[in-house]
Amino acid sequence: MLSRIAIFAGLLGVLIVGAVAVETQSPDWRALWSPRQAQAQTAEPLPGENTPADAKPTEAKPAEAPPVQPPQVLDQPVTPAPTPPPVVVAPSAEPPAVAVTPPLPPEKPATAEPKKEALSVKQRFAAEKLPTLGKAMAIGYYPRGCLQGGVALPVNGPTWQVMRISRNRNWGHPSLVNFLEKFAPAASKATGWKGILVGDMAQPRGGPTPYGHRSHQTGLDVDIWFMPMPGHTLTSEEREKTSAINLVADDWKRVNPKTWTPQHASFIKTAAEQPGVERVLVNAAIKKEMCRMNGNRKEPWMAKVRPWYAHHDHIHVRLQCPADSPTCRGQPSVTDEEDNGCSDKALDHWFSDKVLNPPKPTTPPKPPRPLTMADFPPACQTVLAAPDKPQKN
Ligand SMILES: [Zn+2]
Repeated sequence: MLSRIAIFAGLLGVLIVGAVAVETQSPDWRALWSPRQAQAQTAEPLPGENTPADAKPTEAKPAEAPPVQPPQVLDQPVTPAPTPPPVVVAPSAEPPAVAVTPPLPPEKPATAEPKKEALSVKQRFAAEKLPTLGKAMAIGYYPRGCLQGGVALPVNGPTWQVMRISRNRNWGHPSLVNFLEKFAPAASKATGWKGILVGDMAQPRGGPTPYGHRSHQTGLDVDIWFMPMPGHTLTSEEREKTSAINLVADDWKRVNPKTWTPQHASFIKTAAEQPGVERVLVNAAIKKEMCRMNGNRKEPWMAKVRPWYAHHDHIHVRLQCPADSPTCRGQPSVTDEEDNGCSDKALDHWFSDKVLNPPKPTTPPKPPRPLTMADFPPACQTVLAAPDKPQKN
């Protein structure tokens, strides 16, 4: 009898120990799974990576029915997906200047190559990686045009370096490249800087950009940073991650004495004095300071320095229409001796509540009508269809 009780107790003991072991193992088992699940989650889009509405490649999707998924058998254990490679998070590209700088739209999958006609006008221009054959010509208006026979500014020069190379916006009409090749050493001399940092010019064929600018479409506009070129050749990463310096105080009514220097004034003046320059756009607080420094004198270069939204960390230089571009439309000249843009009448508006503290709209603003090719000069259709200009390496 005792031996039977002992055997029964022994069996009971084995059962209890076994049950406890299963309990204690199960957290370990979960731990084996959760890191994989966590990794799988990191492959989801991260917050802040959303592309803006107009950059979403929704129009690029072919009109195909979605593939039919086989029904999932929920009772079966799900084989974990192979561990994805570590997700490399792109450095947040701080806008050097102009408004929004979201990441580039995702690459289109090779199997789903959409018809060119299905792309938006912005996407069509952005998709062109090379300029056209043919003689250089700026076509249309700065915010509504394109570029034929564009040329690239080399990304490294003796007194300049191009930033944000990944955007492929270091293209322009030859007059813009000539301007930069002359302005860079002149600005270096005037400021004592080693050189200049060049931001966006135009896309290889100009046209509207998917993000960042309204103008820069005809190969005659360039953004140049309020920042000296460093002494070393910047790495690609530095060119993507570095941000330009804001020269304006927090109240947006004056320059920031901690960042503004007399060299910045020389930099702006040198740009405005170059031949062929139509406008140099700066933040209104910077214009006001330039007027003050110049004793409100009426000089043609000062008239070309004009306030515009943003432009607190870069200048925007706009060139006049070149002689070789009959369909280029310029802006009215501002070299009127009587108007240096320093009057209260010219400046007060920029410091009004309307501009500095605009009321928040009660209803979301209507999205702008998407551009169509009918909005552009007909020659831009030809520019999009033209063969690539082969590039020397
Ligand atoms: Zn610009």
